[in-house]
Amino acid sequence: MREVPKTKKQQATDPAKIETAVRTILEAIGEDPEREGVKNTPRRVAELYRRIFGGIGKDPAKDLKLYTVENQDGLILVKDILFHSMCEHHLLPFFGRVQLAYLPDENRITGLSSLTKVVETLSRKPQLQERLTNEIADVLTKALRPRGLLVAVEAEHLCMAMNETNRSGTKTVSYAMRGVMAEEPVKAEVMSLLGDPDPQARSNTVARDPDHL
Ligand SMILES: [Zn+2]
Repeated sequence: MREVPKTKKQQATDPAKIETAVRTILEAIGEDPEREGVKNTPRRVAELYRRIFGGIGKDPAKDLKLYTVENQDGLILVKDILFHSMCEHHLLPFFGRVQLAYLPDENRITGLSSLTKVVETLSRKPQLQERLTNEIADVLTKALRPRGLLVAVEAEHLCMAMNETNRSGTKTVSYAMRGVMAEEPVKAEVMSLLGDPDPQARSNTVARDPDHL
């Protein structure tokens, strides 16, 4: 097989290739790709994929701005950063919200728009919820160098919802803790401040659907 350098593999999407592939899928599922309603679907999907996979090969910390604010050593909570991503196992959306908590070091903080951009860049590629959670934690830990950081991602997966009956609305919660926030009692305290996810969601963190993985 032809050797493709890593950077080449990660360059922007190829709309013509996506169009051909989507047309092939339409044919393969027994659709008529010339039917009026789906005739332009390959082009529409190619346009959409350019945006929703726009995070591939992008540095998530590129637009992360840091500030120094005097006496800012207290806990910072950022709640409900919304995100949409694509499950890399089924290429169907998973979406929800990110909760963040960190304890700044040396008064170093960042703003909401920076955090939103980090989450967006990391969401816009084929992803797994657990990896997204860890990547957000790692990017922020590296840039902010906080004393501690906790990331909680709560999401609904359409592959789970559509594959099985009565799975709609089920949420999975994943956590990543770094620094002092990986230690009790700080961890328990911060998790209670972020709000305990509902019991159904919590049970899904321990009982991940094996079909999904
Ligand atoms: Zn999936």
